[in-house]
Amino acid sequence: MYLFGINSNFFNINDLHQPYMAELKSLDTIITLSKRRGFIFQSSEIYGGLAATYDYGPLGVELKRRVSGEWWKAMTQKHDNIEGIDAAILMHPKTWEASGHVASFNDPMIDDKVSKMRYRADHLIEMHIAKLEEKGEKDKADTVQHLLDTAGTRSTMAKDLYQIILDEQIKSPASGSFDWTEVRQFNLMFKTQFGAVASNDEDSIVYLRPETAQGIFVNFLNVQQTSRQAIPFGIAQIGKAFRNEIVARQFVFRMREFEQMEMQYFVKPGTDMDAYEAWKEERINYHVGNGIRRSNLRFMDHPHDKLAHYAKAAVDIQYKFPIGWQEIEGIHNRTDFDLSQHSQFSGKKMEYFDPQANERYTPYVIETSVGLDRSCLMVLCDAYREEELEGETRVVLKMHPKLAPVTVGVLPLIKKDELMQVGEKIRKDLSESFKVQFDEKGSVGKRYRRFDEGGTPYCVTVDFDGLADNTVTVRDRDTMQQERVGVDHLENYIRTKIKNWTPED
Ligand code: ATP
Repeated sequence: MYLFGINSNFFNINDLHQPYMAELKSLDTIITLSKRRGFIFQSSEIYGGLAATYDYGPLGVELKRRVSGEWWKAMTQKHDNIEGIDAAILMHPKTWEASGHVASFNDPMIDDKVSKMRYRADHLIEMHIAKLEEKGEKDKADTVQHLLDTAGTRSTMAKDLYQIILDEQIKSPASGSFDWTEVRQFNLMFKTQFGAVASNDEDSIVYLRPETAQGIFVNFLNVQQTSRQAIPFGIAQIGKAFRNEIVARQFVFRMREFEQMEMQYFVKPGTDMDAYEAWKEERINYHVGNGIRRSNLRFMDHPHDKLAHYAKAAVDIQYKFPIGWQEIEGIHNRTDFDLSQHSQFSGKKMEYFDPQANERYTPYVIETSVGLDRSCLMVLCDAYREEELEGETRVVLKMHPKLAPVTVGVLPLIKKDELMQVGEKIRKDLSESFKVQFDEKGSVGKRYRRFDEGGTPYCVTVDFDGLADNTVTVRDRDTMQQERVGVDHLENYIRTKIKNWTPED
């Protein structure tokens, strides 16, 4: 085969041994890999951690940036009628009255009637599970854990949690009694004090935003007028959101501080359902374009009786996580609910004037809302493979190369000056275009394995043969094939490989 001006030299381990491949079975595998390789750490780990908050390490932050970069590109670069914004996390408190969050963004709490102590219903159940484990009742503990993890799927979250407490006869830690109120709702928004005010004055309370969407709605007029976009057009934003989640125990799947990527698409009423259907298709194709296997993605429509108060239609894109099919993205027809509410609460008309039809109306909104952290988790889960090779296990992350934290590994075959110098020059040149890592420590086999585990798609090895004709070998992470490539063609070669990559089934 003739490639980039040089005869390629194939060596394919797969020709010798067909590897046995195992898929991911448990989220724990990803949690362990994340910590071991520096993708994601528990936040404030040295102090025992802060529940449901996480820090991204060196590989994790690169992955996260690539995932958010792809989304930003898909929205604001590929659509000339979608504008980006970056709104503040702290917003005027009236925003959350208008949006309905102050009144109805809740989760369940329970009170002990005897001691008058108030508990988080999920915490009581967690303590009960820990006790079962201590007593060696592992199967029972697992069953209750499963009920807790799936609370909210049988009935409402409050009712399901209450039922577990009743069925398990969980007693109050304070009084030892079994005399509970029903589970009631608790607002999920984090409150904080605004400005140097000593009192608990209601006027000084602000919230950490529980979703990024409202930052878009309140800027609807600003963006429309400054960008001079005509309807239909969209506004996109990536940013932090905060929710004091009651059941938050599934790694970065459910966090108290997380990032959302949301786009609100403003349309003329009457055209909303067509836009909704179009965005459904576009969004699932986007995930496939990021290398996620289509067979691991599905739509789940919200039944009409379970629609949020603002929605006319809603669907989740779900991914088959090791914890089951779970939401990764929501697509909602929010009607004119938000703009109308903000008009009413602010006294400012949030309308659009259509000069052609000479009419004024409040646009309808189609929302696409995807979690950045959940997306990263999905990429890790979908990419994870264990392959048995000659009695050894190769752990490899076969993610789309465009998302890989490190695109190219550069490895001098051995630590000799001539090879190191050429390798360093290649690292420097390629780093203009890609994230490159130089690694000269340990055997080549061990170095390949390290890069495999971090998801690095291409390893460039500098050897003595190549010094003579200015070539290197490039090893492909997925196939383990090696090709000899001219150094001058490396960048194009890698670009072409990234462009033509397709996921394995
Ligand atoms: P869930 O039903 O899982 O609680 P939701 O329906 O409340 O999610 P939305 O409000 O629609 O979620 O938020 C949009 C997206 O934001 C979700 O699809 C998810 O990817 C992400 N997301 C929501 N809550 C969290 C969280 N606590 N941690 C991480 N990501 C989250």
